[in-house]
Amino acid sequence: MQSFRRMQVLYLGLVIVLLGVAVQSQDTSQTNIASGLQASPATDANADAPSATLAAPDIDTIEPVEHNVLHRPIELSGDLTHWVDRSYPYGSTQHGARAVHLGVEFVNPRHTPVYAAKSGVVVFAGADDEILIGPQLDYYGLVVIVAHQIESLAGRQVFTLYGHLEDISVAAGQSVEDLTRLGHIGSSGVALGPHLHFELRVEDPYDFRMTRNPELWLQHYLDRGMIIGRVRDQAGAPIYGKRVSVRSDTISRDVYSYEGELVNPDPVWDEDFAVGDLPADDYQVIVLSDAGKIAFVDVVAVEAYRTTFVDIVLADA
Ligand SMILES: [Zn+2]
Repeated sequence: MQSFRRMQVLYLGLVIVLLGVAVQSQDTSQTNIASGLQASPATDANADAPSATLAAPDIDTIEPVEHNVLHRPIELSGDLTHWVDRSYPYGSTQHGARAVHLGVEFVNPRHTPVYAAKSGVVVFAGADDEILIGPQLDYYGLVVIVAHQIESLAGRQVFTLYGHLEDISVAAGQSVEDLTRLGHIGSSGVALGPHLHFELRVEDPYDFRMTRNPELWLQHYLDRGMIIGRVRDQAGAPIYGKRVSVRSDTISRDVYSYEGELVNPDPVWDEDFAVGDLPADDYQVIVLSDAGKIAFVDVVAVEAYRTTFVDIVLADA
């Protein structure tokens, strides 16, 4: 992990560990009906992925690899928001006002259809009022969890979770294809207004401590890329809740480093923040000290369909 240089644009090919290569290969020949997405170049490159199941790699010895393989669960339509909501991203507490966020939101009107981000098998479909899926009962309301034939780099099975639904169109045990409709957006459970809560979990679909940042798994989108990085003190310890400002000539976004122990970085990227859906451009990345002075500044390039990693070390956290 120490091999990172400060600011690297890392792209080492997509995906990773595949149990279901047939599923992956299908992607390249099939139009994504619900979203109308084009398969990304990276997905095409994966069509020849080896069919053998790979053993769980030693994560200390492998390089970071992008694994942006999931579709957006919302239809690509001018009336709908298929962008990840930036006000409450993964790992955010909205400055202490809310519980730490273990997923991301797609904020859309009630009744908006919700689609499977990838093919798989439904492992749970129903209300979480009798089974603990979140921090408390009746947290996600009507919820669907799909098991995918995808593994994380650490060799753990990947699941996606769709919460606060208004209704559910699938049943447990049912196989789903890419972009099968799972239900509709609602506000069941603990929800401030209608939206889709979208989560990614590894290994145990019922354990809310096993989430990862779904943005690191969603396909790069519409010629955009992503900045992720670490915010650490000089001893290498993560600094929680630090504002990282990302600016281009046209975009200005603030993101806060992950807040709290429930949030899990990708085992290989080991990131503390992520900001996706950035148009390809040069970005100034700025962190201020508590006294308001510039504690870190640099310019990084975001390329379409790529992840740019920024390693921020602060002398004075
Ligand atoms: Zn949420």
